[in-house]
Amino acid sequence: MSFKSMPKVELHLHFEGAAPPAFIRGLAKEKSIDISKIFDEKGGYAYRDFDHFLTVYEAACTTLRSPEDFRRLTLAVLEESASHGVVYSETFLSPDFCGGGDLSAWRDYLAAIEDGAAEAEKKFGITLRGIITCIRHFGPEQAKTAARCAAETKGDFITGFGMAGAEMVGRPGDFSYSFDMAREAGLRLTCHAGEWGGPDMVADTLRDLRPERIGHGINAIHDLALVDRIAEDGIVLEVCPGSNVFLNAVKSWKDHPIVRLRDRGVKVTVSTDDPPFFHTTMTAEFDMLARTFGWEEDVLSDLNKTALDAAFCDPATKEKIAKKLELSQ
Ligand SMILES: [Zn+2]
Repeated sequence: MSFKSMPKVELHLHFEGAAPPAFIRGLAKEKSIDISKIFDEKGGYAYRDFDHFLTVYEAACTTLRSPEDFRRLTLAVLEESASHGVVYSETFLSPDFCGGGDLSAWRDYLAAIEDGAAEAEKKFGITLRGIITCIRHFGPEQAKTAARCAAETKGDFITGFGMAGAEMVGRPGDFSYSFDMAREAGLRLTCHAGEWGGPDMVADTLRDLRPERIGHGINAIHDLALVDRIAEDGIVLEVCPGSNVFLNAVKSWKDHPIVRLRDRGVKVTVSTDDPPFFHTTMTAEFDMLARTFGWEEDVLSDLNKTALDAAFCDPATKEKIAKKLELSQ
């Protein structure tokens, strides 16, 4: 059985990382950019390990130059997500990749992305919200630029701020200035932690950056007192099992801690991270959870409800999406 048609809510999706390879190849061709070495013989993205993945990711991003490229990317990404039943999606957007962090350039890119999102909502019935992310390995100074872009463009569409990139670079506290700026601007907060780092990284992130959601957070499982605290505080984990297995952050689906975390009371949700890079989709995630752990429709629909509760959108949007989820039951 496949859960392809089941409506889904996704909270953790890197925008450029969701770019269908065929779309990026097309753009590269139009612009005569040679990035052929980032593709394998089947046309998918090819890389050796996590650090190389970041390099390939950034090479793919070099094709995305103008606001119009991002408008088209929005449509391509949302069409693909909607084909897997996703009715609501939150995506990480980096001003670093859209105008190099310049605020007025960022406003142009954002307007184009919002245009694409509005068109996709009409065409494919999927709603998008944006979370601005700073890139950890670009350093704390660059992060402030991203936070400033976030604070200045907060609104109905840009509702959150977060941090992605190489987790083992620096410590969470190095970025507290940026997270404070975003919090003061009224943005909701999430941060990658505990994908590569241990429980200490998750604990430091919660203490120093005070996000309400954690991207991944799976390594919290090695400190059960921390897991209990996460559960008590209602911190939501954006878990991406397919990504974790593909990148070897977890040995196999069977070994994935998502069940243990959920059984201990942690609010878990499921997302794809960078789907074409990790050869996954929301359908594949739901199908693998069902196959590996025997999770049936009730548990999967619970994941959706948890995700919608934790979504960074306004109440009216939540109500609209809740109806779409209910209709399917
Ligand atoms: Zn991620």
